[in-house]
Amino acid sequence: MSIVYDYFGGLYINLTNKCTNRCEFCIRNFTDSLGNADSLVLDRDPDIEEVKAELRNWDVRGYDEVVFCGYGEPTERLPELLQLAKHIKAAYGRPVRINTNGLADLIWGEDTAPWLEGIIDSVSISLNESDAERYEALCHPEFGLKSYDAILKYIKNVKKYVPYVAVSVVSGSLSQAAIEECRKIAADLDVAFKVR
Ligand code: SF4
Repeated sequence: MSIVYDYFGGLYINLTNKCTNRCEFCIRNFTDSLGNADSLVLDRDPDIEEVKAELRNWDVRGYDEVVFCGYGEPTERLPELLQLAKHIKAAYGRPVRINTNGLADLIWGEDTAPWLEGIIDSVSISLNESDAERYEALCHPEFGLKSYDAILKYIKNVKKYVPYVAVSVVSGSLSQAAIEECRKIAADLDVAFKVR
């Protein structure tokens, strides 16, 4: 199982395979590996010391940033993620990004954006669709229809605590019209927009 891997010159940490969603486009539906990873399917969630040990095998300072992404939703392990992010910044001086489905507040039952302050440099949030019904149909979140509004609220909140916030959609998973609607939502929220 691969915990740390290089993907197109970025350094990624695969902290868990747990996820609240079953997105139809999820890469996990098509392959077990990405980049130089052998397999991103985890036998178990790695503990913090295991991840730190893995990082020692990498030239972490040679990367622009370290990204928590992998084959699951990283905020499922948000406390461990934040401990590791502090370690990465202290030991290697690299900025830290989270790629997330934006459902951390529903996972943890509270407003988690303040937890990120001073620790996380960048958050990329998968918006994926332009309204709640279409989001549910595409991503099948375990929290149902309320997920989409929770993501919008999360984007607004994270902006208060993290220097750079972007939202993204997956090309090929939604119509051009829906992409443009999502672009407008991002503009209204005053965050960057990416088509992946
Ligand atoms: S939120 Fe991410 S990890 Fe979870 S199913 Fe969707 S694409 Fe896959």
